[in-house]
Amino acid sequence: MKFVHETLPQRVRFASGAAAEALAAEVAAQDVRRLMVVAGTSERDLADRITAGLPVVHRHHDVAMHVPLELAQRARAAAAEWDADAVISVGGGSTTGLAKAIALTTGLPIIAVPTTYAGSEATPVWGLTENAVKTTGTDPRVLPRAIVYDAELTLSLPVELSVASGLNALAHCVDSLWAPRADPLNQALALEGARALRVGLPQVVAHPDAVEGREDALYGAYLSALSFASAGSGLHHKICHVLGGMFNLPHAQTHAVVLPHVLAFNAPGVPAAEQRLAEALGSRTAVDGLAELRSQLKAPHSLRDLGMPSAGIEEAAAAVVSAAPAGNPRPVTLEAITELVRNAWEGTDPR
Ligand code: NAD
Repeated sequence: MKFVHETLPQRVRFASGAAAEALAAEVAAQDVRRLMVVAGTSERDLADRITAGLPVVHRHHDVAMHVPLELAQRARAAAAEWDADAVISVGGGSTTGLAKAIALTTGLPIIAVPTTYAGSEATPVWGLTENAVKTTGTDPRVLPRAIVYDAELTLSLPVELSVASGLNALAHCVDSLWAPRADPLNQALALEGARALRVGLPQVVAHPDAVEGREDALYGAYLSALSFASAGSGLHHKICHVLGGMFNLPHAQTHAVVLPHVLAFNAPGVPAAEQRLAEALGSRTAVDGLAELRSQLKAPHSLRDLGMPSAGIEEAAAAVVSAAPAGNPRPVTLEAITELVRNAWEGTDPR
């Protein structure tokens, strides 16, 4: 056995129903005194509630998906103007992304309080969008110093968004099995993450107001992000990145639609990992397990429904082939990827 695995420096606090207390403990541990709180408009009330007792100098609500550069610049200017010494982000991946944009140029520490299952809080990956082109990069400065997970904060996330976001997390797990830096440690995290998401997400759908399923889903989402941060982007993430950028598709829903098709394509190339994933998903094969879960969750089915034009299939496939990660378990040919994207566009059953 030979591999190199890097574990990222970050403290995580799981604190169901106790985000305010956990945040206060974290602020004290880091000895920060001038906090800038970042939260989007639908996350604002949650943020106000859990940061009420803290030394907040500025509250920033100017958040949009994929971090437009102008918004990043305004947020950085606000951090400087208010002389903030730390950023607290309360929200989904878009909000965490804005906090990361601040940290990228200022080096301010982030304490992340996630309210979706996107997982950005556990990765050192940043993204910025300028003139409709999204650039991503990796920088240790943007990795939040600490995360506070409180499943109660996800109770207000609508079921449909919870499902899409949860499948986005599952995609981190699945893609980690064959991503460029896949190793036994991130595979173990990915498989436990997949198991927890398979247990939690159906409960979120059946009992959206109960905290138990949301706890499992959040735990699974954290593990999924750890595995993704360590293993890197595999074929699935490259496809979603291309599609999202070309057709401005919603992030989590695109992952939810594309995942079964990439799994069906790659599974024959990784038989041992496929069997372990099948077990984690509680089924005979991984493809069946994902199909059964998706049907329980009434997951979104097709890229057509998300607004992608059929005329874009070939152009997207060509872009995927030229960006494909090295070492994918099966050859990434134009013919194969065109078929995969077409199937995802039509929403065919990959079984
Ligand atoms: P999002 O952050 O855009 O949230 C989706 C919607 O849900 C928003 O309107 C938001 O305000 C709302 N919302 C969030 N939490 C809520 C709650 N608890 N109750 C009610 N409403 C709530 O979507 P997302 O899927 O979390 O994040 C997507 C973004 O994150 C994309 O830009 C993606 O590229 C990025 N991302 C980055 C990484 C990384 O490692 N850098 C990883 C995953 C995702």
